[in-house]
Amino acid sequence: LKFSEAGLHPVLMETLKLMHYDEPTPIQAYTIPAVLLGSDVVASAQTGSGKTAAYLIPILSRLMGKAQKLCAPRPNPVTYNPSTDAVRAEPLVLIVAPTRELVCQIFDEARRLCYRSKLRPCVAYGGGPMGLQREELNKGCDILIATPGRLIDFMRKPALLTLARLKYTIIDEADEMMTADWEENMTQIMGGDSNEDPDHIYMMFSATFPKEMRKVARKYMEPDYFRI
Ligand code: AMP
Repeated sequence: LKFSEAGLHPVLMETLKLMHYDEPTPIQAYTIPAVLLGSDVVASAQTGSGKTAAYLIPILSRLMGKAQKLCAPRPNPVTYNPSTDAVRAEPLVLIVAPTRELVCQIFDEARRLCYRSKLRPCVAYGGGPMGLQREELNKGCDILIATPGRLIDFMRKPALLTLARLKYTIIDEADEMMTADWEENMTQIMGGDSNEDPDHIYMMFSATFPKEMRKVARKYMEPDYFRI
């Protein structure tokens, strides 16, 4: 596969050129066509394989075609005052990752790939106050990249965040999040109010696939499987 043969949005094609992404990596060559066709994806791929772009590229390409219509509500950028002009975050894409470091890496890649689109990524991770992240969410959020604990904290504040408009959910480095409350967390995240859209795409990336993870995948997904 070549990027130019994948049917990607022209704005994204230009961004890929600027980023010097000339050829898709193997995981990208499998994942991009699958997601463009609307499949769920379960893939085994390591850090360094280009897996972040493997899920971001097809999702952003699909969203860019509709971005004007779909973009989350935004407050007035001139008069913005978080206490009076804030809007509820209504992301279209949710990416869940185990650590603050990984969330920030994904955010960097998302920000670069969203350059010249109207899509706005935001982060939410634990270990610090919620205030600043909340202000960023209040400015409008199309792509939310979060650790599971902080995400669930924000989900408990429906005035701040709703997952009702989600079209894509990605669980990245899933095996690093297999704590005792994994199944309960996944039920909240994957089975929340987001689950009603029949076209909702779910993706799961992990180095290993223990039994508990396969169970969640079977429950929520009809995936294509890739092992790189
Ligand atoms: P990841 O596995 O997502 O952590 O990506 C590893 C590194 O590869 C990151 O620095 C990406 O920016 C870079 N990368 C991802 N896809 C490509 C590509 N198609 N061509 C060149 N570099 C890439």
